[in-house]
Amino acid sequence: MSENGHDSHGEMLVIIGSGPAGWTAALYAARAQLEPLCIIGVPKQDPGPVLPGGQLMLTTDVENYPGFPEGVAGPEMMGLFQKQAERFGARVVMDDVATVDFQHDSSVPHTMTLASGKTVRAHAVIIATGATANWLGLDNEMRLAQAGGGVSACAVCDGALPMFRDNPVAVVGGGDTAMEEAHHLSKFASKVYVIHRRDELRASKVMQERTLGKDNVEMVWNSTVVDVLDKKDEATGVDVIRAIVLEDVHSKEQRELDVSGLFIAIGHTPATKFLRESGLEFDDAGYIDLKHRSSVTNIDGVFAAGDVADAKYRQAVTAAGMGCQAALDAEHWLGAHALV
Ligand SMILES: Cc1cc2nc3c(=O)[nH]c(=O)nc-3n(C[C@H](O)[C@H](O)[C@H](O)COP(=O)(O)OP(=O)(O)OC[C@H]3O[C@@H](n4cnc5c(N)ncnc54)[C@H](O)[C@@H]3O)c2cc1C
Repeated sequence: MSENGHDSHGEMLVIIGSGPAGWTAALYAARAQLEPLCIIGVPKQDPGPVLPGGQLMLTTDVENYPGFPEGVAGPEMMGLFQKQAERFGARVVMDDVATVDFQHDSSVPHTMTLASGKTVRAHAVIIATGATANWLGLDNEMRLAQAGGGVSACAVCDGALPMFRDNPVAVVGGGDTAMEEAHHLSKFASKVYVIHRRDELRASKVMQERTLGKDNVEMVWNSTVVDVLDKKDEATGVDVIRAIVLEDVHSKEQRELDVSGLFIAIGHTPATKFLRESGLEFDDAGYIDLKHRSSVTNIDGVFAAGDVADAKYRQAVTAAGMGCQAALDAEHWLGAHALV
């Protein structure tokens, strides 16, 4: 390998994504002297799949990442992740990967075309592009989510926050995720309303029974959330949710429901659009399929880590752990092919 992590074929290792998975992969790869090139995306007006720093940029309080006993703001934590990776030599390009041309012959490097038109070639690639929570698309929703105002897409992450304790909250959705979120919240909230637009759930019978058997969980059928109403919290000065407006799907009648929290559980979309023609294998839900409990994909030299390959856990700490695995797998692969 020549200087700066590349040889005449291009980069040794490219990491796509700058969430917990991407930065942890970058940290490990940099400390292994692979001098990874991290392509982190360009900030956009609407937070979509490309969001430098990843999904945690949308949250104020991270209370479940080990090492931060007082909790930490998501953007602050991601700044620290980046700083640590850069300290060991990770290089950063702020661009989106638009398309990829992955090779099945390990002697030929993979090629990535960036939104700016540049191309990058690399022997090994780690995909850590995450999965975006699906939101309802209401005016106040994202504003309150980003401000810590009681709107969230993750009950495991936020459910235990003091603002939800002994207060009524609502969950939107009708699948297993909505049932899991409601079940988790029922431990803290005084009441959990599950808002569903149909008159039956998609969730498995066992999940339904477990959740709806709870005394403080109540279904609100045939209803959609059409607005989120807020107020200024007197103690903190922060805008917080005070109620949601529900609309009956048949009668179109609207009513307010007082809640201190709104949890959106209508699924996630893995950020894999740019990989459609890549030859990578995906599972039924569109997440990258990994082999043998590792970060190895079906394409030689291409690895995946974090939420883009994990429909189940979707936590910062699990994504970071997968980033570590991917860097070790990539290092091992590069060594086995005599590329480092
Ligand atoms: C509102 C909210 C609150 C949360 N709170 C918590 C919490 O308190 N604790 C917790 O453990 N988890 C929390 N989570 C979940 C956590 O954010 C995710 O599990 C974690 O961010 C996944 O990390 P990741 O690295 O896999 O992906 P992400 O963090 O989503 O990062 C994906 C990265 O890929 C980049 N990217 C995507 N497409 C492209 C492309 N084409 N080109 C270049 N770059 C690209 C993006 O810019 C981004 O940098 C929360 C999630 C949400 C939505």
